[in-house]
Amino acid sequence: MTKVPELFGSKVFNDQVMHERLPGTTYKALKKTIENGEPLDISVANVVANAMKDWAVEQGCTHFTHWFQPMTGVTAEKHDSFIQPCGDGVIMEFSGKELIKGEPDASSFPSGGIRATFEARGYTTWDPTSPAFVKDGSLYIPTAFCSYTGEVLDKKTPLLRSMERLSAEAVKILHLLGKTDVTRVATTVGPEQEYFLVDKDLYEQRVDLKLTGRTLFGAKAPKGQELEDHYFGSIKTRVAAYMKDLDEELWKLGILAKTKHNEVAPSQHELAPIFSTSNIATDHNELTMEVMQKVAERHNLVCLLHEKPFKGVNGSGKHNNWSITTNTGENLLSPGKHPESNTQFLLFLAAIVKAVDEYQDLLRITVASAGNDHRLGANEAPPAIISMYLGDDLDALVQSIINGGSYESHGKERMHTGVDVLADFKKDNSDRNRTSPFAFTGNKFEFRALGSSLNIACPNYMLNTMVADELAQFYEALKDAEDLEAAAKALIRETLTAHRRIIFNGDNYSDEWVAEAERRGLLNLKSLPEAMQHFMTEKNISLFVRNNIISEEELRARCEIELETYAKQISIEAMTMVDMAKKDILPAVTAYIRELTETALAKKALSESISVKAELDLINALTDKQEQFAALTAELQDEIAAASLIADNQEAATAYREKVFAKMEELRAVGDSIEEETAAEFWPYPSYTDLLFGV
Ligand code: ADP
Ligand code: MG
Repeated sequence: MTKVPELFGSKVFNDQVMHERLPGTTYKALKKTIENGEPLDISVANVVANAMKDWAVEQGCTHFTHWFQPMTGVTAEKHDSFIQPCGDGVIMEFSGKELIKGEPDASSFPSGGIRATFEARGYTTWDPTSPAFVKDGSLYIPTAFCSYTGEVLDKKTPLLRSMERLSAEAVKILHLLGKTDVTRVATTVGPEQEYFLVDKDLYEQRVDLKLTGRTLFGAKAPKGQELEDHYFGSIKTRVAAYMKDLDEELWKLGILAKTKHNEVAPSQHELAPIFSTSNIATDHNELTMEVMQKVAERHNLVCLLHEKPFKGVNGSGKHNNWSITTNTGENLLSPGKHPESNTQFLLFLAAIVKAVDEYQDLLRITVASAGNDHRLGANEAPPAIISMYLGDDLDALVQSIINGGSYESHGKERMHTGVDVLADFKKDNSDRNRTSPFAFTGNKFEFRALGSSLNIACPNYMLNTMVADELAQFYEALKDAEDLEAAAKALIRETLTAHRRIIFNGDNYSDEWVAEAERRGLLNLKSLPEAMQHFMTEKNISLFVRNNIISEEELRARCEIELETYAKQISIEAMTMVDMAKKDILPAVTAYIRELTETALAKKALSESISVKAELDLINALTDKQEQFAALTAELQDEIAAASLIADNQEAATAYREKVFAKMEELRAVGDSIEEETAAEFWPYPSYTDLLFGV
C-alpha cells in the first residue's frame, strides 16, 4: 500500500511539481500571478503548458479539458487531445494559448436571456490560482467562463472578484490599524458535506430516485432516526470500505479529506475536508461530490446528494465554515485572549454583523433551491429566518459594548472529568448552537443553511461581497479620524447597536423564535419563489454593481435562471409522480384488490358461513383511496398543464410551488397510505425500510 503522503496530490500539478519541472524564472512569474494576482505573460504560459502536458502524458493522459462551472449547477468539461499532425504521424502538443483560453460553444448553457443563441461564442480562461489535475486520462484545467461580449456566465468569476474585493478592503483597514506588513487577505472555507448511500440494485428500481434524486412516494419505515443510534455510530463494513476508497481518491487529487462519520438519519454520512481558500475549496467541493458518486458505483452503491431524499428523516446540508486570513498568517476572526480590547477583531465582527443583517435576504436567496426548500423551516436544518449566534462569551461582550457595561472574559475554563485516568482539558468558550443558521464557532463563522448539492461559490461570493462593502464603509468612516481608537470604538458600538436584532442565541427551531423574529422585522422566506422576490432590489443590485462583482443585467439573468430551474425541477418531479401513479401504483392497487376479491369469492364458494370481513374491509378502504388517488393524479396533471403555460418565470415558479407542489403533497399522502395497506409483494417499489436499512 502506498503511504498517504506519497499518495496525496499525486494527480495534481501542484507547487512541488511546478518547482521541479519549470525553469526558475517561469516558476517565479507563475507564483507572482498565483499569489499576487499579477497578469500572466503568454511566453510564461507557453512554458507552463508544455510542462503540464509532459507531466500529464507521463500520467497516461491523452487529452486536456478546460473545466468550468456554468449556471447549470454542475461542472462542465470538453476534452481535446494533445495530438498535432507531424509528417505521417502525430506528436503531443499543448500551447500557452490553449492553456489560457478555450472556446466552448456557450449556446446550450443557461444564460438567463442575456445572450441570444446566435451569439453563441463563450470563452473559458485559465484560473492559475486553482491547480490543474489529471483524472480519467485527461488533464483538467480549472477555468472561468464568460461570453463573447464579456458577460459572466459562471460561478467562479464572481467568487474570484469578491475575494479580491474583500482583500483590498480588509488590507485598507489593517493598514489603518498599523498592520502595514499585510499585503493580501484570503477568505477560507471548509465545507462539511452530507450524503446518503443506497444500494444500487434498489435504486435502480426507483424511477423517482433516478429522475429526481429523491423519493416522491414512500411510507415511513417503522424505524427512522428516533433512537438517535446512527449519529456517530459505528460505521458498517460496506460503508467503511467505500469511505476508505473515497478518501484515497480525494487525497490523490490533493483534497484534504479529514473527517468522516455517520450522520443523524439512517444511511446518512458526512465528509469534512480541512479548509482552504474559498476558490480552491469550491473547486474541491465540486470534485468531491463527483468523486463520491463515482466511487459509490464501484461498491454497487449510489451516493445521493439531494437535500431531501427521504421524507420523515433528516435531509442533507453543507456547512460552510468561513473565515479570513492574512498573508502573514493571522486569522482575522480569532478573538484572541482579550476580545474586549481587540479593536481589529471587533471591527471585523461588527462588519459581519452589519452585513448579515442588511443582506439577510441575499443569504437566504443564495441557499434557496427546490431541494433545500424541504429542509429550511422544517425541524431539522436551520430555519428560513437568517440570524447569527455568537456564543455566550462573545454575546456578553457585544451586550456590554451596546449597553456600555463592563465585561469580564471568562477565558478558557478547565474541564474536570472527575476520573483520574482522564486528562483534564480546556473547555471551548462557546457551546455549540446547532440550530443557528450562521454561528460563530471560535475563529470562524459556520453558515449552515446550504443544501448538500449546492455549489458553494454563490453563497461565498455573496458573503465576501457584502463584508467587503461594509469594510469599505468602515474605512471611509475611520480614515481621517484624529483618535482612531476612539473612533473605531464608537463605530463598533454604533454598528452593533443598530444591528443587534440579527443576533439570536436561543433555539432557532422554536415557535417563539418565529414570532420574535417577526417582531424584530427579520425576514422569513419559506420557499425559493418567495425568496427570489427579494433579489432584484435597488439595495442588492447596487451592492454587486458598486463592488464590480456582476452587472445588473447579469444579476437579473441569475435570478431568471434560478426561477426557471426551480420550475423545471418541480415540473419533472410532478410528471414523474404522475407516471408512477398511473403506470405502477394504480395497477398495483387494482391487482391487490382483485386478489382480495378473488380470495373473498373463493372463501364464499367454499362455504357461505366463512367470514370475509377482513377482505371486505380492506377492499372498501383501498377502493376509496384508489378513487381519491386517481382523482388527485388527474388534478395534478391539470395543475402541471396550467403552470406550464405561464410565461413569466416568477409567476411560473410561484404556481409550481403553490399549485403543483401543493397537489404533489396531497397525492403523496394518499399514495403513502395506500402503500401501508398493500401487501409487499404487490408494491412496485423497494420500501423505505429496504432503502434506509439496506446497506
Ligand atoms: P463540526 O463540529 O461543525 O462538525 P468539523 O470539525 O466537522 O465541525 O468541521 C469544521 C470545518 O471547519 C472543517 O472543514 C475545518 O477545516 C473548517 N475550519 C476550521 N478553521 C477554519 C477557518 N479558519 N476557515 C475556514 N474553515 C475552517
Ligand atoms: Mg458543522
